[in-house]
Amino acid sequence: MVTISKKDMGTSSSSSATNSGAGRPLLRTCLDALCGCQIDSSEYLEARVCQTAAKDPWHAGGGGGTTTTTTTTMMPRIRSPGEYYIDIHNDEPWSFSLGTGEENGIWMNSGDQAGSIMATLVWLLMTYSAVTVTLLTITKGFPPVLGMIYTLLCAMALACHAKTSLTDPGSVPRAAVPQEEQRRENPSHSMCGQCQTFKPPMSHHCRICNRCVSRMDHHCPWMNNCVGAANLKHFILFLIYTWTCASYSLVLFGWNYFFCADEGCTFHVVVIHLVRAMTFLCIGAFLFTSSMLMNVTYGLMTGIGTIDRLKKKATNTMSQSDEEPIALKDVFGIAGILTWPFPVDPIFDDYDRVMGYSTPQRLLREQQFMDQAASNGGQGQQGIV
Ligand SMILES: [Zn+2]
Ligand SMILES: [Zn+2]
Repeated sequence: MVTISKKDMGTSSSSSATNSGAGRPLLRTCLDALCGCQIDSSEYLEARVCQTAAKDPWHAGGGGGTTTTTTTTMMPRIRSPGEYYIDIHNDEPWSFSLGTGEENGIWMNSGDQAGSIMATLVWLLMTYSAVTVTLLTITKGFPPVLGMIYTLLCAMALACHAKTSLTDPGSVPRAAVPQEEQRRENPSHSMCGQCQTFKPPMSHHCRICNRCVSRMDHHCPWMNNCVGAANLKHFILFLIYTWTCASYSLVLFGWNYFFCADEGCTFHVVVIHLVRAMTFLCIGAFLFTSSMLMNVTYGLMTGIGTIDRLKKKATNTMSQSDEEPIALKDVFGIAGILTWPFPVDPIFDDYDRVMGYSTPQRLLREQQFMDQAASNGGQGQQGIV
């Protein structure tokens, strides 16, 4: 049995633990050694581990029954539900090198040629559709304001595409460690044979990105990137904007076809061919994005990503899976609903929980924040949870 209670180390007179020496928790000692700094923490959690064992009847004091031993372990304080802090530290290396390695400053999958071509194709097709709609507007196919709306939607879709492609989807760093709760619940954890790192639950190793990705949904060749915990928001936004673009242009073309049938409504032959080709393109984009949106919605509602779902279907273990919906704040962040439609990085209330791993550096920053909040008389920020 494990009981955890809060203990103020600064005022306790009975405690034998000090800020230096053997009384310090192992994790804290490791953190200090890693960052080379000493932090005067005033608050810890105290865990009492009670173990009940049968007495040995053949030795002195035996005779059957049970004996209980209690050991006390000092543990770093962990945040209560509702508390959060915003970590503004940038863990990325300050370098202009492109790649998916830990040493690269800008995340970009440059090794996959097919993915690069497909991602470029998305930009070309979107630009082509915007030019076609603009030409139709110029030749008075429909009011200019409708063409401007379409161009704006295209621009948003392309911004989301760029953000999805160039955002680290949640690659697991070499310094990753299991979270405090994971360590308590299960002392053994899986490792990735290729990355030689801790492999968080729900993560997968992507052979194209050559990294383990947290809560990996799939590797999307149209994005030329993995879709994972950190860029799922941008991917969903891209799907929504592209779906809107496709259905909006189909409505525009239909409107133009039915309401522009008099003699004064003639178009250049090039525009007519462009519109015909774009109609097929929009139907394909509409169907594809519709199926992908349903796929993503299913993933959010069940917490089972595309890869996991395919694996479970292949092994016929779909009915045995634990379905736990993913909260929208774990995808779109807690920075307010006004930030949701834009491809800005989401702020998570508990980054480690969303990613499925911690790093010693981040644990240390969190501890510093909690210490600072405790010394200010507060308990961290009260968040929207
Ligand atoms: Zn891996
Ligand atoms: Zn990948």
